[in-house]
Amino acid sequence: MLIDQHNRIHDYLRISLTDNCNLRCFYCMPEEDYAFMPNQRLMQKDEIVHLASLFVQNGVKKIRLTGGEPLVRKDAAAIIKALGKLGVNLSMTTNATRVHLFIDELNQAGIQSLNISLDTLQKEKFQLLTRRDQFNQVKTNIDLLLAHGFKLKINVVVVKGMNDHEILDFIAWTKDTPIQIRFIEFMPFDGNKWNSDKLLTLQEMLNIIGKEYKIATAMSEPNDTSKRYTIENHAGSFAVISTMSAPFCNTCNRIRLTADGKIKNCLFSSEETDLLTALRKGENVLPLIEDSIYKKHRELGGQFSKEFEKINTDLLHNRSMIAIGG
Ligand code: SAM
Ligand code: SF4
Repeated sequence: MLIDQHNRIHDYLRISLTDNCNLRCFYCMPEEDYAFMPNQRLMQKDEIVHLASLFVQNGVKKIRLTGGEPLVRKDAAAIIKALGKLGVNLSMTTNATRVHLFIDELNQAGIQSLNISLDTLQKEKFQLLTRRDQFNQVKTNIDLLLAHGFKLKINVVVVKGMNDHEILDFIAWTKDTPIQIRFIEFMPFDGNKWNSDKLLTLQEMLNIIGKEYKIATAMSEPNDTSKRYTIENHAGSFAVISTMSAPFCNTCNRIRLTADGKIKNCLFSSEETDLLTALRKGENVLPLIEDSIYKKHRELGGQFSKEFEKINTDLLHNRSMIAIGG
């Protein structure tokens, strides 16, 4: 079992398949020229499967594939197929632009639920936020996935002045559609020009929704990062990921493996542990994994606290989100 110095059991692994993406979400990818990692720096399929198996042997029960965009990787289908044989709860976070090409593979690998990113319900704004004209494809694919019976969570990063006035439109979508909208507080990463004025907090979101709807608190699952809510007579529900204003670090069970094979024991950790180089040298990587998890900071990578107004982004050391994997 992988346990950290604060006695938290780590049984959930998020694997980034690539830092490449076919969208350019401004909060994720730095504006200045970003060079995607060359292929030889990325974990190859067999390396991913080997490391994933090792994590599973050591107690990991759930694996989420992410990116960049996981489905732009050429061998994504083969990786999904191989990981589907590990007998864990397998899922994926995707921008859904290419998901229509993978329905059979997802089904065969036993993937039943997907997290999909969509920050606006307006076609023109989608282009502004992502710098790509893919809104119709994403909406069509969401309908396709629902028709195939996948359980969907829709990730919405809320940024003040950008899409905060669409919160009620997203809630209206849940009236007849069995999706969970997950509003995510905007987080600081390298190159994304975060500042606290752009952050809409959990409480501010609840105030906006509460003026129009009667909200009920729903049961959370163990290790849940989101606070869940329901609205009477709505087929869907909503949740808020309040990383900044109300972090959930005390129940964290997450391990992140970057596309270049490094462990990040926290989304905000500045330290990384290079598994891929050690693996390629034929070394035993388990002690590296155990040591990395053990040393995890109690909260937010040891870099800041929930007093987010005090964050000086110049002092944060991290990758950009696209190179971490969310
Ligand atoms: N390409 C896939 C997608 O967009 O779903 C997977 C990778 S993406 C990095 C994973 C998640 O991180 C997405 O839901 C995205 O919205 C979220 N994300 C990226 N940058 C963020 C930020 N600065 N604050 C909060 N969430 C962020
Ligand atoms: Fe790509 Fe996802 Fe980042 Fe958007 S959030 S740029 S879709 S990796």
